Amino acid sequence: MALIVQKYGGTSVANTGRIKNVAARVANYYSKGHKVVVVVSAMSGVTDGLIKLAKEIMPLPNEREMDVLLATGEQTAIALTAIALHSIDIPAVSLTGAQAGIVTDGVHTKAKIRNITPKRIHELLTQGKVVIVAGFQGQTIEGQVTTLGRGGSDLTAIALAAALKAELCQIYTDVDGVYTADPRIVPGAIKLEEISYDEMLELASSGAKVMQSRSVEFAKKFGVVFEVRSSLNDNPGTIVKEETKNMEDVVVRGVSLDKNQAKVTLVRVPDKPGIAARVFKALGDAAVNVDMIVQNISHETGAPATDLSFTVDKPDLLKAQKVIDALKPEIGFGKVIATDNIAKLSIVGVGMKSHTGVAGKLFDTLARQGVNIEMISTSEIKISVVIDLAKAELAMKAVHAAFIG
Ligand code: ADP
Ligand code: ASP
Ligand code: MG
Repeated sequence: MALIVQKYGGTSVANTGRIKNVAARVANYYSKGHKVVVVVSAMSGVTDGLIKLAKEIMPLPNEREMDVLLATGEQTAIALTAIALHSIDIPAVSLTGAQAGIVTDGVHTKAKIRNITPKRIHELLTQGKVVIVAGFQGQTIEGQVTTLGRGGSDLTAIALAAALKAELCQIYTDVDGVYTADPRIVPGAIKLEEISYDEMLELASSGAKVMQSRSVEFAKKFGVVFEVRSSLNDNPGTIVKEETKNMEDVVVRGVSLDKNQAKVTLVRVPDKPGIAARVFKALGDAAVNVDMIVQNISHETGAPATDLSFTVDKPDLLKAQKVIDALKPEIGFGKVIATDNIAKLSIVGVGMKSHTGVAGKLFDTLARQGVNIEMISTSEIKISVVIDLAKAELAMKAVHAAFIG
C-alpha cells in the first residue's frame, strides 16, 4: 500500500465527462488499497477567462483581488471531483489550499510556498478518504488567499508529495509525457523515457509549459522523483529525476519555445556604476521577473551611454513599463522601446557540458532559415536566442530537425 499524489491539469478536468474519467482513475488506485491525494487545476480555460474578466474592468487589477478571483477556479474543480468520486461510492473530501495547510509568502499572483502542515490530510487519509486538494493556491500566515503563478498546480503536487513523503508522484496531463519539443508545434517530437531535473528545469523555464519551472526546482531541491503522463491513456510517461552518467551522451535533450516574453530596451542609458542596479532593483521590488539581460559596450567618451535590453513575462510588460517610466527623471535615459513581438527559442541538454560546436550549429541553422538573432544567453546546459515571433515556429522545427531529427 502506497501514498500516491496525483495531479490532474486543466484539460484533464475540462468538463464533467473528463472529471468522471479522473474519478475512475483515482478509484482504480484507491480500490487497490493505496492512499490517494489528488491535486486538481481549474477546468481548462477558466483561469484565462477570469483574468480576462478582471482586465475588462481595468488593465492592471489589484493583485490581492486577482488571487481571490483566480482561486475560485480550482475551488470549483475540487468540489466537482469529490462529487464525481461520491457518485461511484468512493469517500472523498475536497480541501482548499489553506485547508490543506499550504502556507505561502505574501507575493500575490506568484507566491512561494513557505511550509506545509499536512495534519488534516493525514487525518482524512487515515479515515480512509481520498483527499482532493485545490492546486495553485495557498494562504499567508495572516490568512490572505494567494496563488502560486501560472501552472502552479504542478507545484502544489510536488510540494505535497515532499511534505507527505509520498511513494509516487504522478502529473497527469493531455500529452503522454515530456517530449523533445512541444508535440503540438513539432509533429516529429519524440517522447522521452526520462529526463534530469536540470534539463526539465531549463526546458520549463524557457517555455515548455508541460511543467511549471518552480515545481521542478522544488522537486530537485527535495529529491521528489515524478512521472509526467497522460490522463487519457495508460502509456508509461516520462520520469523526471536526478541526472545519471549516461544522460550526458545526448547533446540536446529538447528544444523549447517561449512566446510569453516581451522585450524592453532603454536607449542611451548613462554608462556609470549603479544604473543597472537601480533599474533591476526597482523591477525586482515590483515582483517583475526579468529573464535575459543584454547591455552593449559604450564607445563614446564624455558622457558614455549604452543601450540596455531585457526580457520580462508578457503579462508583466505593463507593470515593467510603469516602473521604468518612474525611473526616467532620476536616471535620464533616452526613449524606451517595448515589444511583445518576440519569442525565445532554447536548446537544452546536459551533454552540452562535454560537447563543442553546439552554438555554431544553432546559429547556422537559424541563419539558413533567415532568422535574425536579437539576444543570446547561455548556461552550462542551455543556449537561448530571442527571435522574431512570426518566424518562431519555423525556427523551432528547423532547430529540432538539425539536433534531434
Ligand atoms: P495541464 O493543464 O495538464 O497542466 P499544460 O497545458 O500546462 O497541461 O501542459 C501540457 C502542454 O504542454 C501540452 O499540451 C503541450 O502542448 C505543452 N508542451 C510544451 N512543451 C512540451 C514538451 N516538451 N513536452 C510535452 N508537452 C509540451
Ligand atoms: N489554473 C492555473 C493556471 O491556469 C494553475 C494550473 O493550471 O496549474 O495557471
Ligand atoms: Mg500546466
